[in-house]
Amino acid sequence: MIPYGRQSIQQQDIDAVVDVLNSDFLTQGPKVPEFEHNIAELVQVKHACAVNSATSALHIACLALGVGSGDLVWTSPISFVASANCALYCGADVDFVDIDLDTGNMSIAALEKKLINAERNGRLPKVVIPVHFSGQSCDMAAIHQLAQTYGFKIIEDASHGIGGQYLGKPIGCGQYSDLCVFSFHPVKIITTAEGGMVTTNDDKLAKQLTLYRSHGVTRDPALLTKASEGPWYYQQLALGYNYRMTELQAALGCSQLRQLKDLVAKRQQLTKSYDLAFADMPEVKTLTVNAHCQSACHLYVIQVAADKRLALFEHLRNCGIGVNLHYIPIYQQPYYQRLAYEFEACMNAEAYYQSAISIPLFAQLTAQEQQFIISSIREFLCN
Ligand SMILES: *Cc1c(COP(=O)(O)O)cnc(C)c1O
Repeated sequence: MIPYGRQSIQQQDIDAVVDVLNSDFLTQGPKVPEFEHNIAELVQVKHACAVNSATSALHIACLALGVGSGDLVWTSPISFVASANCALYCGADVDFVDIDLDTGNMSIAALEKKLINAERNGRLPKVVIPVHFSGQSCDMAAIHQLAQTYGFKIIEDASHGIGGQYLGKPIGCGQYSDLCVFSFHPVKIITTAEGGMVTTNDDKLAKQLTLYRSHGVTRDPALLTKASEGPWYYQQLALGYNYRMTELQAALGCSQLRQLKDLVAKRQQLTKSYDLAFADMPEVKTLTVNAHCQSACHLYVIQVAADKRLALFEHLRNCGIGVNLHYIPIYQQPYYQRLAYEFEACMNAEAYYQSAISIPLFAQLTAQEQQFIISSIREFLCN
C-alpha cells in the first residue's frame, strides 16, 4: 500500500539519534535548546518552545493566553480534533468558523459575520485558532485586522505548515499572531516521531510556555515570588504538565530541519505534477493556493462529486493506494455532539467533507507511483 504520507529518514538522522544515546543527556540536555534556536532562526521569530506534540503545544498556548472556564475559543471544523480539544482541556467552550471551499482554510467572510453576531450577543471569542490547511497559510493579515477590532488573541495551528511562507515571510514568524504551533508527527513535513513547537515574539508568553511545559516549576529569579532559599530552590507557580521533548527527538528534529528545504521542494514539485494532471480532468477539483502564499504542501486533496466519492475512495484503496480523508467536521464527532451546547452547521465544511479525498503526498513518493495514482483516478472517473 502506498501510504498517504510518510516520514523521510536518512542515515544522518539515525546517526544524530544514536549520538544522543551515547551522550550524557537523554532529556533536559543541550539538544532541545539547539532545536528551538534553529526553528526560531528559520521562521524568524524571537522564541521557540519545544514540546512532546502539537497537541501539547496547543494546550500550553491556550494556557499561556489565560484561556479558562467561561472563555470561548473558535477554530476551523476541517482540522484534526486537537485544534479544538485544547480549548476544552482549559475548561473553555469551543465553536467553529466555516471554511473557504477553494483553500480549505478558515473563511474570512464567515469569521467576520460570526464576529458581528457574537458582538451583538455579547459573547466574543477570547482566542481564534486558524488552521493552515494542507500547508497554506490562512489570510493572517485579515484575521489580525479582525483581532484588533474585536479584541481576540490568535494561535496559528501550523501543524501542516513548517517551510511554508505568507507575504514573503516564513509561517511561524508571528507577525500577525500571538503564538504559532507546529507538529512533527511522522506524516508532517519534518518529524521528531512525536513532537511539537510553539513560537512567539512575546517575552511574557514565552516564559508562560516554558512554565506550563514543565510542571509549572521554575528557577528563574525573575519569576520567583520571594528570594531564593538556596541553590536547590525552585517554585511551582502554576499547574503545569510534563510536556517536555526528549533529547533524542530534538536531535532528530535538528537533523530533519537541515533537510527541510529539500523536503518541501520535493513536495511542491509533486504537487505541481498533480495539479498539471488534474487540470484536464474536469471531474476533479483541487485546492487553490493564493498568490501571496507558498504552501508547505503537507496534503494533496482532490474533490469529486459527492455521489462518486465513496466508490472512488474504495477503488483507490483496492489499487493499493492509501488514500485518506482530512477531515470529518470536528463538531460531528460523537464527543462534540454530546457537549451541552449545539453547534451550528458549517455548510462549506459539510460540502467539503462529502467530496474530499487526500491522495498520497510525501517527499519519497516516486514519479512512477505518482503516475500510477493519477492513472488510477483517471481510469475510474473517465470510464
Ligand atoms: C497533526 C495535527 C495536530 C496534532 O499534532 P500532534 O503532534 O500529533 O499532536 C494538530 N492540528 C493539526 C491541524 C494537525 O494536522
